[in-house]
Amino acid sequence: MKIAVVGAGYVGLVTGVCLADMGHYVTCIDINENKVERMKNGVSPIYEPGLTELLKKNLEVGRLVFTSDHRKGFKEVEVIFIAVGTPQNDDGSADISYVEDVAKTIAFCAESDTIIVTKSTVPVGTNDRLQALINLHKANDITIEIVSNPEFLREGSAVNDTFYADRIVIGSNSEKATKKMKEIYQDFNIPIYLTDIRSAEMIKYASNAFLATKISFINEIANICERVGADVEKVAVGMGLDQRIGTSFLKAGIGYGGSCFPKDTKALIQIAGNVAYDFELLKGVVNVNSKQQTILVDKLKKKFHSLHGKRLAILGLAFKPNTDDLREAASLMVIDELVKEGAEVICYDPIAMENAKQTIIHPQIRFAASVEDAVKDSEAALILTEWDEIKSIDLKVFTHMKTPFVLDGRNCYSLEQVKAAGFEYHSIGRSAVN
Ligand code: NAD
Repeated sequence: MKIAVVGAGYVGLVTGVCLADMGHYVTCIDINENKVERMKNGVSPIYEPGLTELLKKNLEVGRLVFTSDHRKGFKEVEVIFIAVGTPQNDDGSADISYVEDVAKTIAFCAESDTIIVTKSTVPVGTNDRLQALINLHKANDITIEIVSNPEFLREGSAVNDTFYADRIVIGSNSEKATKKMKEIYQDFNIPIYLTDIRSAEMIKYASNAFLATKISFINEIANICERVGADVEKVAVGMGLDQRIGTSFLKAGIGYGGSCFPKDTKALIQIAGNVAYDFELLKGVVNVNSKQQTILVDKLKKKFHSLHGKRLAILGLAFKPNTDDLREAASLMVIDELVKEGAEVICYDPIAMENAKQTIIHPQIRFAASVEDAVKDSEAALILTEWDEIKSIDLKVFTHMKTPFVLDGRNCYSLEQVKAAGFEYHSIGRSAVN
């Protein structure tokens, strides 16, 4: 099938490449011309395991094309996916202006019957509003129908998640559009859950809010564990053995970040508020998370009376491993706090370094070439992302620090390992090693 994908970011590019790999003819459209040029040359503008190989392969066989020209990209396509960003407004609500712009562009440019598939995460009711907007601006006498197809991929494993998703949710009020969607996904071998448009929109927010709730829940349990002498890692295993609970998303740490959970939880609070419903539980989840993100800074302040002039190493900047994405990463809040306290911060991340150099700019901040480089001469090391490289490092490296003092926000090491290596270690929800 001939398909266009508008917005070639983490979701759009992965979707476009994977659809092409399944045999569809895909045109990815992005307003960022620099990105488009790079993608045309087989260079992925984002780090995502497995993506570059598939990008190159499908460019070569001619199933994948990139352009900044919407009208050209929409020529003869039957289905257009919208995958542009829906960032957070100042009040926490979702900014759907990018999605609306694309919908209007489609209405102006489409020359034959078209199905629009909204992959972007949009508040409940948005697709109905987009349909009305399109009907109003349609330049030709054609039928344009909208389908909600929320995305559940995770950055860092996005390609794999696209091919092996747990489910594909399709919200549609049109039999014709539903049939087309089933055709698109027929070779994916993933269960399809068909529902109405508003329920599909809500499934996305409810899923992210639920996962965020699990994270904040285990983080609160972790904070209590520390105070009562229990070990949250063992508690999580014991809880997870109950199949009603399950093991996933029970990893205690310094909270969730990234481009989805923070904004989607706040947007759902707004969506509820708009219909006069106070989503108290989710407000708690958000508050717990923001406190959790700076918990290591509090521990650091307990150890040192003042952080002024102290050299502190930050290990891991990305909001999670296997991505170069820094959006809403805990590292940004932590570094901000440390800089305010007058510390000298030296950062290392295996992949997100280039993005970080453009995002985190301050005279008190420098970048190291390796973990060893970062911790050498530092008075404390803060682990903020559980990269394999950091988890598998020889722990002796920490014993060579100016002060061998490690604050681990992701529980990367067993307490036994740390005791054997011999340095002061504070993690989340476990007893300290002194
Ligand atoms: P992103 O910021 O990585 O990419 C958005 C892209 O859209 C950018 O490349 C931008 O240049 C382009 N763009 C903006 N306006 C455009 C226009 N008018 N025409 C063409 N291109 C345009 O965003 P993302 O992380 O891929 O997220 C996209 C959507 O998917 C959001 O709604 C997000 O909530 C949702 N989502 C994201 C993830 C994730 O892990 N990133 C997962 C599930 C859902």
